[in-house]
Amino acid sequence: MSDIDVEVAVVGAGLTGAATAWALARRGVPVALIEAYPIGHSHGSSHGTSRIVRRVYDDPFYLRLTGRAFDSWSRAEDDTSTALVRLTGAVDHGAGRNVAALPPKLAAEGIVSTLMSAGEAAERWPGMRFEGQVLHHPQAGHVNADVAVAAFARRAGELGATILDNTRVTSIVPSGAGTRLHTVFDAGTRLHAASDAGTRLNTTSDAGTRLNTTFDAGTRLHTTSDAGTRRHTSSAGPVITAGTVVIAAGPWLPDLAPGLPLTLPALTVTQQQVFHFTRIDPSPDWPVFVYKNADTQIYGLPSGADGGPEPAFKVAQHNGGRPTTATSRDRVIDPASRDIVTRFVREFLPGLDPAPVAEASCLYTNTPDEDFILDRVGPLVIASPCSGHGAKFAALTGETAAALAIGDAAPDPRFALSRFR
Ligand SMILES: Cc1cc2nc3c(=O)[nH]c(=O)nc-3n(C[C@H](O)[C@H](O)[C@H](O)COP(=O)(O)OP(=O)(O)OC[C@H]3O[C@@H](n4cnc5c(N)ncnc54)[C@H](O)[C@@H]3O)c2cc1C
Repeated sequence: MSDIDVEVAVVGAGLTGAATAWALARRGVPVALIEAYPIGHSHGSSHGTSRIVRRVYDDPFYLRLTGRAFDSWSRAEDDTSTALVRLTGAVDHGAGRNVAALPPKLAAEGIVSTLMSAGEAAERWPGMRFEGQVLHHPQAGHVNADVAVAAFARRAGELGATILDNTRVTSIVPSGAGTRLHTVFDAGTRLHAASDAGTRLNTTSDAGTRLNTTFDAGTRLHTTSDAGTRRHTSSAGPVITAGTVVIAAGPWLPDLAPGLPLTLPALTVTQQQVFHFTRIDPSPDWPVFVYKNADTQIYGLPSGADGGPEPAFKVAQHNGGRPTTATSRDRVIDPASRDIVTRFVREFLPGLDPAPVAEASCLYTNTPDEDFILDRVGPLVIASPCSGHGAKFAALTGETAAALAIGDAAPDPRFALSRFR
Protein backbone atom coordinates (compact mmCIF):
# COMPACT_ATOMS: atom_id res chain seq x y z
CA MET A 1 0.00 0.00 0.00
CA SER A 2 1.34 3.45 -0.72
CA ASP A 3 0.82 6.62 1.26
CA ILE A 4 1.14 9.11 -1.54
CA ASP A 5 0.15 8.48 -5.17
CA VAL A 6 1.31 10.95 -7.75
CA GLU A 7 1.87 11.03 -11.46
CA VAL A 8 5.51 12.06 -11.07
CA ALA A 9 7.89 11.85 -8.12
CA VAL A 10 11.02 13.98 -8.25
CA VAL A 11 13.94 12.81 -6.12
CA GLY A 12 16.16 15.69 -5.05
CA ALA A 13 15.41 19.39 -4.61
CA GLY A 14 18.62 20.99 -5.82
CA LEU A 15 18.33 23.36 -8.76
CA THR A 16 17.44 20.50 -11.11
CA GLY A 17 14.77 18.76 -9.06
CA ALA A 18 13.19 21.94 -7.71
CA ALA A 19 12.94 23.36 -11.24
CA THR A 20 11.48 20.07 -12.50
CA ALA A 21 8.82 20.02 -9.79
CA TRP A 22 8.00 23.64 -10.61
CA ALA A 23 7.68 22.90 -14.33
CA LEU A 24 5.48 19.86 -13.67
CA ALA A 25 3.24 21.64 -11.19
CA ARG A 26 2.92 24.51 -13.65
CA ARG A 27 1.60 22.02 -16.19
CA GLY A 28 -0.96 20.77 -13.68
CA VAL A 29 0.78 17.42 -13.17
CA PRO A 30 0.35 15.82 -9.71
CA VAL A 31 3.93 15.75 -8.44
CA ALA A 32 5.83 15.05 -5.23
CA LEU A 33 9.25 16.62 -4.65
CA ILE A 34 11.29 14.57 -2.17
CA GLU A 35 14.44 15.99 -0.62
CA ALA A 36 16.72 14.21 1.85
CA TYR A 37 17.71 17.43 3.68
CA PRO A 38 16.02 20.75 4.37
CA ILE A 39 15.42 22.50 1.06
CA GLY A 40 18.27 24.93 0.48
CA HIS A 41 20.89 22.82 2.33
CA SER A 42 24.60 23.00 1.54
CA HIS A 43 25.51 19.31 1.08
CA GLY A 44 25.22 19.12 -2.70
CA SER A 45 25.83 21.32 -5.74
CA SER A 46 23.18 24.03 -5.65
CA HIS A 47 23.80 26.10 -2.51
CA GLY A 48 25.12 29.62 -2.41
CA THR A 49 24.10 32.99 -3.71
CA SER A 50 25.94 33.02 -7.04
CA ARG A 51 26.24 31.02 -10.26
CA ILE A 52 27.35 32.37 -13.64
CA VAL A 53 24.81 32.51 -16.46
CA ARG A 54 26.21 33.32 -19.89
CA ARG A 55 26.03 32.60 -23.60
CA VAL A 56 29.64 31.83 -24.57
CA TYR A 57 30.51 28.22 -25.40
CA ASP A 58 32.74 26.94 -28.21
CA ASP A 59 30.04 24.49 -29.25
CA PRO A 60 27.03 25.74 -31.30
CA PHE A 61 24.82 23.16 -29.53
CA TYR A 62 25.40 24.88 -26.20
CA LEU A 63 25.22 28.34 -27.76
CA ARG A 64 21.64 27.55 -28.80
CA LEU A 65 20.87 25.95 -25.45
CA THR A 66 21.98 29.07 -23.57
CA GLY A 67 19.45 31.11 -25.57
CA ARG A 68 16.66 28.73 -24.60
CA ALA A 69 17.92 28.81 -21.00
CA PHE A 70 17.53 32.58 -20.80
CA ASP A 71 13.94 32.22 -22.10
CA SER A 72 13.25 29.64 -19.38
CA TRP A 73 14.69 31.90 -16.68
CA SER A 74 12.34 34.67 -17.86
CA ARG A 75 9.36 32.32 -17.54
CA ALA A 76 10.57 31.25 -14.10
CA GLU A 77 10.98 34.85 -12.96
CA ASP A 78 7.49 35.75 -14.19
CA ASP A 79 5.81 32.69 -12.71
CA THR A 80 7.57 32.80 -9.34
CA SER A 81 7.41 36.62 -9.17
CA THR A 82 11.08 36.52 -8.16
CA ALA A 83 14.14 38.23 -9.66
CA LEU A 84 16.58 35.38 -10.26
CA VAL A 85 19.07 36.52 -12.90
CA ARG A 86 21.11 39.70 -12.78
CA LEU A 87 22.82 40.73 -16.02
CA THR A 88 26.33 42.20 -15.75
CA GLY A 89 27.88 41.03 -19.03
CA ALA A 90 30.84 38.63 -19.15
CA VAL A 91 34.45 38.73 -20.31
CA ASP A 92 36.61 35.85 -21.50
CA HIS A 93 40.39 36.13 -21.66
CA GLY A 94 43.64 34.27 -21.12
CA ALA A 95 46.32 32.61 -23.21
CA GLY A 96 44.60 29.24 -23.11
CA ARG A 97 41.82 30.24 -25.44
CA ASN A 98 41.61 31.88 -28.84
CA VAL A 99 38.75 34.25 -28.04
CA ALA A 100 39.18 35.98 -31.42
CA ALA A 101 37.72 32.86 -33.07
CA LEU A 102 34.46 33.13 -31.13
CA PRO A 103 32.57 36.20 -32.44
CA PRO A 104 31.56 34.63 -35.79
CA LYS A 105 30.20 31.55 -33.98
CA LEU A 106 28.32 33.77 -31.54
CA ALA A 107 26.99 36.01 -34.31
CA ALA A 108 25.67 32.92 -36.14
CA GLU A 109 23.41 32.35 -33.12
CA GLY A 110 22.48 36.02 -32.82
CA ILE A 111 24.71 36.63 -29.80
CA VAL A 112 26.22 40.10 -29.64
CA SER A 113 29.89 40.28 -28.60
CA THR A 114 32.86 42.63 -28.80
CA LEU A 115 36.60 41.96 -28.94
CA MET A 116 38.95 44.42 -27.28
CA SER A 117 42.58 44.63 -26.21
CA ALA A 118 43.66 43.89 -22.64
CA GLY A 119 44.40 47.61 -22.19
CA GLU A 120 40.97 48.70 -23.41
CA ALA A 121 39.29 46.20 -21.11
CA ALA A 122 41.35 47.32 -18.08
CA GLU A 123 40.34 50.90 -18.79
CA ARG A 124 36.67 49.95 -19.06
CA TRP A 125 36.64 47.91 -15.84
CA PRO A 126 38.96 49.56 -13.31
CA GLY A 127 40.40 47.05 -10.82
CA MET A 128 40.58 44.21 -13.37
CA ARG A 129 43.56 43.20 -15.53
CA PHE A 130 43.51 40.99 -18.60
CA GLU A 131 45.75 38.70 -20.64
CA GLY A 132 45.59 38.78 -24.44
CA GLN A 133 42.46 39.75 -26.30
CA VAL A 134 39.25 40.09 -24.34
CA LEU A 135 35.82 38.99 -25.51
CA HIS A 136 32.87 40.79 -23.94
CA HIS A 137 29.25 39.74 -24.34
CA PRO A 138 26.40 41.53 -22.59
CA GLN A 139 23.86 38.69 -22.21
CA ALA A 140 25.51 37.23 -19.13
CA GLY A 141 25.49 37.66 -15.40
CA HIS A 142 24.64 35.58 -12.40
CA VAL A 143 21.77 33.73 -10.81
CA ASN A 144 21.19 33.47 -7.07
CA ALA A 145 21.06 29.69 -6.66
CA ASP A 146 19.65 29.76 -3.11
CA VAL A 147 16.86 32.09 -4.16
CA ALA A 148 16.16 30.03 -7.28
CA VAL A 149 15.85 26.71 -5.40
CA ALA A 150 13.55 28.30 -2.83
CA ALA A 151 11.44 30.02 -5.48
CA PHE A 152 11.01 26.87 -7.57
CA ALA A 153 10.04 24.77 -4.54
CA ARG A 154 7.72 27.41 -3.12
CA ARG A 155 5.95 27.95 -6.43
CA ALA A 156 5.66 24.20 -7.03
CA GLY A 157 3.95 23.92 -3.64
CA GLU A 158 1.62 26.82 -4.42
CA LEU A 159 0.65 25.04 -7.62
CA GLY A 160 -0.26 21.87 -5.72
CA ALA A 161 2.98 19.86 -5.54
CA THR A 162 3.60 17.72 -2.48
CA ILE A 163 6.89 18.85 -0.96
CA LEU A 164 8.65 16.44 1.39
CA ASP A 165 11.90 17.65 2.87
CA ASN A 166 14.17 15.80 5.31
CA THR A 167 12.87 12.69 3.58
CA ARG A 168 15.38 10.38 1.97
CA VAL A 169 14.41 7.99 -0.79
CA THR A 170 16.01 4.69 0.15
CA SER A 171 14.83 2.58 -2.75
CA ILE A 172 13.09 3.00 -6.07
CA VAL A 173 11.24 -0.08 -7.23
CA PRO A 174 9.78 0.04 -10.74
CA SER A 175 6.81 -2.26 -11.27
CA GLY A 176 3.91 -2.55 -13.65
CA ALA A 177 1.57 -0.88 -11.17
CA GLY A 178 3.74 2.23 -10.80
CA THR A 179 7.16 2.82 -9.37
CA ARG A 180 7.33 2.70 -5.59
CA LEU A 181 9.67 4.88 -3.60
CA HIS A 182 10.51 3.95 -0.04
CA THR A 183 11.65 6.75 2.21
CA VAL A 184 12.95 7.51 5.68
CA PHE A 185 12.35 10.67 7.64
CA ASP A 186 15.14 12.65 9.22
CA ALA A 187 14.53 14.48 12.49
CA GLY A 188 12.85 17.75 11.68
CA THR A 189 10.83 16.44 8.79
CA ARG A 190 8.17 18.68 7.48
CA LEU A 191 5.58 17.41 5.08
CA HIS A 192 3.61 19.94 3.14
CA ALA A 193 1.26 18.07 0.94
CA ALA A 194 -1.71 19.10 -1.04
CA SER A 195 -3.18 15.71 -1.81
CA ASP A 196 -6.20 17.00 -3.62
CA ALA A 197 -8.23 20.17 -3.82
CA GLY A 198 -9.31 21.00 -0.32
CA THR A 199 -7.12 18.47 1.51
CA ARG A 200 -3.84 19.79 2.78
CA LEU A 201 -1.30 18.27 5.12
CA ASN A 202 0.87 20.59 7.18
CA THR A 203 2.93 18.32 9.35
CA THR A 204 5.88 18.80 11.62
CA SER A 205 7.58 15.66 12.86
CA ASP A 206 10.70 15.52 14.95
CA ALA A 207 11.71 13.91 18.23
CA GLY A 208 8.43 13.84 20.13
CA THR A 209 6.66 14.18 16.84
CA ARG A 210 3.22 15.65 16.65
CA LEU A 211 1.22 15.35 13.52
CA ASN A 212 -1.37 18.06 13.19
CA THR A 213 -2.90 16.99 9.97
CA THR A 214 -5.98 16.42 8.01
CA PHE A 215 -5.81 12.99 6.44
CA ASP A 216 -7.92 11.62 3.72
CA ALA A 217 -8.14 8.16 2.25
CA GLY A 218 -5.52 8.88 -0.35
CA THR A 219 -2.89 10.39 1.92
CA ARG A 220 -1.77 8.46 4.94
CA LEU A 221 1.37 8.27 7.02
CA HIS A 222 2.59 5.36 9.14
CA THR A 223 1.06 6.39 12.44
CA THR A 224 -0.66 5.04 15.50
CA SER A 225 -3.09 7.00 17.55
CA ASP A 226 -3.18 7.55 21.26
CA ALA A 227 -5.70 9.64 23.13
CA GLY A 228 -6.73 11.33 19.96
CA THR A 229 -3.18 12.25 18.99
CA ARG A 230 -1.62 10.51 16.04
CA ARG A 231 2.05 9.87 16.59
CA HIS A 232 4.76 9.09 14.11
CA THR A 233 6.23 5.82 15.38
CA SER A 234 9.38 5.19 13.40
CA SER A 235 11.71 6.91 11.04
CA ALA A 236 10.01 5.19 8.09
CA GLY A 237 8.65 7.85 5.80
CA PRO A 238 5.80 7.56 3.37
CA VAL A 239 5.77 5.06 0.55
CA ILE A 240 5.17 6.97 -2.64
CA THR A 241 3.83 5.48 -5.83
CA ALA A 242 4.44 7.37 -9.03
CA GLY A 243 3.89 6.73 -12.71
CA THR A 244 7.27 8.28 -13.45
CA VAL A 245 10.23 9.11 -11.24
CA VAL A 246 12.64 11.91 -12.06
CA ILE A 247 15.98 11.21 -10.39
CA ALA A 248 17.64 14.59 -9.83
CA ALA A 249 19.98 13.41 -7.10
CA GLY A 250 23.14 15.23 -8.25
CA PRO A 251 26.23 13.62 -6.71
CA TRP A 252 24.07 11.00 -4.96
CA LEU A 253 23.04 9.56 -8.34
CA PRO A 254 25.70 6.81 -8.15
CA ASP A 255 24.24 5.76 -4.77
CA LEU A 256 20.67 5.49 -6.05
CA ALA A 257 21.42 3.79 -9.36
CA PRO A 258 22.38 0.27 -8.25
CA GLY A 259 19.42 -2.05 -8.72
CA LEU A 260 17.72 0.24 -11.22
CA PRO A 261 17.38 -0.80 -14.86
CA LEU A 262 19.99 1.75 -15.91
CA THR A 263 23.53 1.74 -17.14
CA LEU A 264 25.24 4.92 -16.08
CA PRO A 265 28.64 6.04 -17.30
CA ALA A 266 31.43 6.41 -14.75
CA LEU A 267 30.51 9.59 -12.88
CA THR A 268 33.30 11.44 -11.09
CA VAL A 269 32.21 13.45 -8.08
CA THR A 270 34.71 16.12 -7.05
CA GLN A 271 34.81 18.52 -4.14
CA GLN A 272 35.33 22.05 -5.43
CA GLN A 273 36.13 25.17 -3.45
CA VAL A 274 35.20 28.79 -3.94
CA PHE A 275 36.69 31.92 -2.34
CA HIS A 276 35.22 35.35 -1.70
CA PHE A 277 37.27 38.57 -1.79
CA THR A 278 36.08 42.02 -0.75
CA ARG A 279 36.07 44.69 -3.42
CA ILE A 280 38.27 47.66 -2.51
CA ASP A 281 36.16 50.09 -4.55
CA PRO A 282 32.82 48.49 -5.39
CA SER A 283 31.60 51.36 -7.55
CA PRO A 284 32.57 50.08 -11.03
CA ASP A 285 30.14 47.35 -12.04
CA TRP A 286 32.35 44.40 -13.01
CA PRO A 287 31.34 41.73 -15.51
CA VAL A 288 31.57 38.06 -14.61
CA PHE A 289 34.72 36.55 -16.11
CA VAL A 290 36.26 33.31 -17.31
CA TYR A 291 40.05 33.10 -17.64
CA LYS A 292 41.92 30.19 -19.18
CA ASN A 293 45.61 29.51 -19.58
CA ALA A 294 47.23 26.26 -20.64
CA ASP A 295 46.32 24.33 -17.50
CA THR A 296 43.98 26.37 -15.31
CA GLN A 297 40.55 27.89 -15.66
CA ILE A 298 39.51 30.56 -13.17
CA TYR A 299 36.11 32.21 -13.02
CA GLY A 300 34.67 35.07 -11.02
CA LEU A 301 31.34 36.71 -10.30
CA PRO A 302 29.68 38.88 -7.66
CA SER A 303 29.45 36.93 -4.40
CA GLY A 304 26.06 38.07 -3.20
CA ALA A 305 25.43 37.42 0.49
CA ASP A 306 27.98 34.58 0.60
CA GLY A 307 30.79 37.15 0.47
CA GLY A 308 29.70 38.87 3.68
CA PRO A 309 28.26 42.32 4.27
CA GLU A 310 30.71 44.17 1.99
CA PRO A 311 30.45 43.85 -1.81
CA ALA A 312 32.68 40.93 -2.76
CA PHE A 313 33.63 38.78 -5.73
CA LYS A 314 33.62 34.99 -5.75
CA VAL A 315 36.71 33.61 -7.49
CA ALA A 316 37.34 29.90 -8.03
CA GLN A 317 39.22 27.36 -10.04
CA HIS A 318 37.00 25.37 -12.40
CA ASN A 319 37.52 21.64 -11.89
CA GLY A 320 40.25 22.20 -9.33
CA GLY A 321 38.76 19.74 -6.87
CA ARG A 322 39.61 16.32 -5.48
CA PRO A 323 37.58 13.20 -6.31
CA THR A 324 35.19 12.25 -3.52
CA THR A 325 31.64 10.98 -3.02
CA ALA A 326 28.53 12.73 -1.77
CA THR A 327 28.67 10.75 1.47
CA SER A 328 32.41 10.84 2.15
CA ARG A 329 33.29 14.42 1.18
CA ASP A 330 35.10 16.25 3.98
CA ARG A 331 34.46 19.96 3.22
CA VAL A 332 38.17 20.65 3.85
CA ILE A 333 39.32 23.47 1.59
CA ASP A 334 42.34 22.52 -0.49
CA PRO A 335 45.14 25.01 0.37
CA ALA A 336 46.69 24.48 -3.09
CA SER A 337 43.52 25.75 -4.74
CA ARG A 338 43.39 28.70 -2.31
CA ASP A 339 46.98 29.56 -3.34
CA ILE A 340 46.22 29.37 -7.06
CA VAL A 341 43.14 31.55 -6.69
CA THR A 342 44.83 34.06 -4.39
CA ARG A 343 47.79 34.36 -6.81
CA PHE A 344 45.32 34.96 -9.63
CA VAL A 345 43.58 37.68 -7.61
CA ARG A 346 46.91 39.42 -6.91
CA GLU A 347 47.86 39.33 -10.59
CA PHE A 348 44.55 40.01 -12.35
CA LEU A 349 42.17 41.53 -9.81
CA PRO A 350 43.97 44.37 -8.00
CA GLY A 351 40.54 45.79 -7.19
CA LEU A 352 40.04 43.00 -4.64
CA ASP A 353 41.56 42.68 -1.19
CA PRO A 354 43.60 39.48 -1.80
CA ALA A 355 42.80 37.87 1.57
CA PRO A 356 39.68 35.69 1.18
CA VAL A 357 36.86 36.72 3.52
CA ALA A 358 34.88 33.51 3.05
CA GLU A 359 35.31 30.12 1.42
CA ALA A 360 33.08 27.12 0.81
CA SER A 361 33.05 23.72 -0.82
CA CYS A 362 30.59 22.26 -3.27
CA LEU A 363 30.30 19.11 -5.41
CA TYR A 364 30.63 18.64 -9.16
CA THR A 365 29.26 15.46 -10.75
CA ASN A 366 31.26 14.99 -13.92
CA THR A 367 30.26 12.86 -16.87
CA PRO A 368 33.14 11.63 -19.05
CA ASP A 369 32.29 14.12 -21.85
CA GLU A 370 31.07 16.92 -19.55
CA ASP A 371 27.67 16.88 -21.26
CA PHE A 372 24.61 16.38 -19.08
CA ILE A 373 22.47 13.29 -18.68
CA LEU A 374 18.84 14.09 -19.45
CA ASP A 375 17.20 10.91 -20.56
CA ARG A 376 14.27 8.63 -19.97
CA VAL A 377 14.54 4.88 -19.36
CA GLY A 378 11.12 3.27 -18.88
CA PRO A 379 9.45 5.00 -15.92
CA LEU A 380 12.67 6.75 -14.88
CA VAL A 381 13.97 10.13 -15.99
CA ILE A 382 17.60 10.82 -15.14
CA ALA A 383 18.43 14.51 -14.84
CA SER A 384 22.08 15.09 -14.02
CA PRO A 385 23.16 18.44 -15.29
CA CYS A 386 26.37 19.26 -13.54
CA SER A 387 29.97 18.91 -14.65
CA GLY A 388 30.25 22.39 -13.24
CA HIS A 389 28.06 24.18 -15.77
CA GLY A 390 24.48 23.10 -15.07
CA ALA A 391 23.17 26.00 -13.02
CA LYS A 392 22.80 28.36 -15.97
CA PHE A 393 20.42 25.84 -17.56
CA ALA A 394 18.43 24.96 -14.43
CA ALA A 395 15.07 26.45 -15.43
CA LEU A 396 15.35 24.91 -18.91
CA THR A 397 16.53 21.58 -17.49
CA GLY A 398 13.50 21.53 -15.22
CA GLU A 399 11.17 22.19 -18.14
CA THR A 400 12.92 19.54 -20.23
CA ALA A 401 12.88 16.91 -17.48
CA ALA A 402 9.19 17.66 -16.92
CA ALA A 403 8.47 17.16 -20.63
CA LEU A 404 10.38 13.86 -20.60
CA ALA A 405 8.47 12.73 -17.51
CA ILE A 406 5.05 13.25 -19.08
CA GLY A 407 6.07 11.92 -22.49
CA ASP A 408 5.86 15.31 -24.13
CA ALA A 409 9.40 15.27 -25.55
CA ALA A 410 12.01 12.78 -26.67
CA PRO A 411 15.48 12.85 -25.11
CA ASP A 412 18.07 14.88 -26.98
CA PRO A 413 20.66 12.36 -28.27
CA ARG A 414 23.40 14.65 -26.99
CA PHE A 415 22.22 14.03 -23.41
CA ALA A 416 21.10 10.42 -23.85
CA LEU A 417 22.66 7.59 -21.88
CA SER A 418 23.09 5.64 -25.13
CA ARG A 419 26.03 7.90 -26.06
CA PHE A 420 28.15 6.09 -23.48
CA ARG A 421 27.60 2.62 -24.94
C1 LIG B 1 31.37 25.33 -6.72
C2 LIG B 1 30.40 25.22 -7.84
C3 LIG B 1 30.25 26.29 -8.70
C4 LIG B 1 29.40 26.19 -9.79
N1 LIG B 1 29.28 27.27 -10.59
C5 LIG B 1 28.47 27.21 -11.66
C6 LIG B 1 28.28 28.35 -12.47
O1 LIG B 1 28.86 29.42 -12.20
N2 LIG B 1 27.46 28.25 -13.53
C7 LIG B 1 26.81 27.08 -13.85
O2 LIG B 1 26.11 27.04 -14.85
N3 LIG B 1 26.92 25.99 -13.05
C8 LIG B 1 27.73 26.03 -11.97
N4 LIG B 1 27.85 24.95 -11.15
C9 LIG B 1 27.07 23.74 -11.42
C10 LIG B 1 25.67 23.80 -10.83
O3 LIG B 1 25.69 24.41 -9.58
C11 LIG B 1 25.12 22.39 -10.80
O4 LIG B 1 25.01 21.97 -12.15
C12 LIG B 1 23.75 22.30 -10.16
O5 LIG B 1 23.72 22.93 -8.92
C13 LIG B 1 23.36 20.83 -10.04
O6 LIG B 1 22.15 20.76 -9.35
P1 LIG B 1 21.44 19.38 -9.07
O7 LIG B 1 20.08 19.72 -8.60
O8 LIG B 1 21.56 18.51 -10.26
O9 LIG B 1 22.30 18.68 -7.92
P2 LIG B 1 22.27 18.98 -6.34
O10 LIG B 1 22.21 20.42 -6.09
O11 LIG B 1 23.37 18.23 -5.71
O12 LIG B 1 20.89 18.39 -5.89
C14 LIG B 1 20.67 17.00 -5.69
C15 LIG B 1 19.67 16.89 -4.56
O13 LIG B 1 19.21 15.56 -4.46
C16 LIG B 1 19.04 15.28 -3.08
N5 LIG B 1 19.06 13.83 -2.93
C17 LIG B 1 20.07 13.00 -3.27
N6 LIG B 1 19.75 11.72 -2.99
C18 LIG B 1 18.51 11.76 -2.45
C19 LIG B 1 17.62 10.75 -1.94
N7 LIG B 1 17.97 9.46 -1.92
N8 LIG B 1 16.41 11.12 -1.47
C20 LIG B 1 16.05 12.44 -1.50
N9 LIG B 1 16.85 13.42 -1.95
C21 LIG B 1 18.06 13.10 -2.42
C22 LIG B 1 20.23 15.96 -2.44
O14 LIG B 1 20.07 16.14 -1.06
C23 LIG B 1 20.29 17.26 -3.21
O15 LIG B 1 19.52 18.27 -2.61
C24 LIG B 1 28.68 25.01 -10.04
C25 LIG B 1 28.79 23.93 -9.16
C26 LIG B 1 29.63 24.03 -8.06
C27 LIG B 1 29.74 22.87 -7.14
